[in-house]
Amino acid sequence: MPLREEFAKALEKGASGGGLDREDIITLLQALPGEEEEGLFGLADKVRQENFGEEVHLRGIIEFSNYCRNDCFYCGLRRSNREIRRYRIPLEEILAAAEYAAGLGYGTIVLQAGEDPHYSGAELAEMVRRVKEVGNFAVTVCVGERSLEDYQLIKEAGADRYLLKHETADSGLFSKLRPGTTLAERIKRLNWLRELGFQVGSGNMVGLPGQTVETLADDILLLKELDVEMAGIGPFIPHEQTPVGDSSPGDLGLTLRVLAVARLVLPKTHLPATTAAGTLHPKGRQMALGCGANVIMPNLSPASYRALYQIYPEKAGSKEDADESHGKITSLIKEIGRSVGSGRGDSPKDKFRE
Ligand code: SAM
Ligand code: SF4
Repeated sequence: MPLREEFAKALEKGASGGGLDREDIITLLQALPGEEEEGLFGLADKVRQENFGEEVHLRGIIEFSNYCRNDCFYCGLRRSNREIRRYRIPLEEILAAAEYAAGLGYGTIVLQAGEDPHYSGAELAEMVRRVKEVGNFAVTVCVGERSLEDYQLIKEAGADRYLLKHETADSGLFSKLRPGTTLAERIKRLNWLRELGFQVGSGNMVGLPGQTVETLADDILLLKELDVEMAGIGPFIPHEQTPVGDSSPGDLGLTLRVLAVARLVLPKTHLPATTAAGTLHPKGRQMALGCGANVIMPNLSPASYRALYQIYPEKAGSKEDADESHGKITSLIKEIGRSVGSGRGDSPKDKFRE
């Protein structure tokens, strides 16, 4: 089927670097399989290539605690889930994982956890400081909503980036799915992080129950407004032990379209090929890398903890050890003719150049 006129116009606008408005974004998100999707994905791939070349940066992730004070409807780590065994990885094991990453030449370590009040700001800062002593890493922290003082301590300890996904730009849906929390508070923190000098990451899930294509367009526009350095966009995958466990998973095609449109709107923003995309489909991450993504986050958590960090079931890599995860990811990058990025892979924006 030939391109519909309205779609062709929006794509043309995207190709000429013209600012896509909300209507254009909605049109592009509804690309039909065949020529329209091929046109959209091909353009996103070209924009990725022009801005980041063929390098795929690896961000080694250590999931250091699965305790969480929150009760997000979509997440298996929610506090009401009594079926999982909770853990905190001792600092020495975190440092051993960081050393392993240093040996393999990783440029970034991501320290991620549930919102675990067990850790004070000072303890998180100490963790960052110790990890930074292990190698010449950029450190990303991803531990949810904390006080301004805690973010300050983490920054002073040398953290370079902070990842706090806005999850959904629909404020009603946000508070429904994340009881006791608001989108406004989340955005306030993203602004604090920006002011503190972090490279800021945010992002959203695709296919949340109650989400519409208009919401997804608003997600992309919010990421643009926040001017993020990284945007994690991945499919929602239902977890049995949650209130939305019976919902359908996010659609991989729609996830790829959101990623591709995000690449057009945010040409210089790092976009990961998410583990969730790799969980939905065995080639999900390769497909994402062909639609604008330029980053992958291999799991470096010690094998004994992995199965317990069950945000959603059958998470890709949860039965592997760090060697296997690293090997699989480097070969998938090579398979598609790309190369593993060198250095820290900072944001290409002028203000973050080394
Ligand atoms: N607790 C911190 C937070 O919420 O920001 C960081 C850890 S949290 C597990 C990391 C990310 O997991 C969230 O930002 C969310 O997008 C994602 N996530 C949670 N449940 C998910 C699900 N069922 N499917 C896909 N992604 C999910
Ligand atoms: Fe906790 Fe984050 Fe999961 Fe929400 S998404 S329950 S804050 S770990």
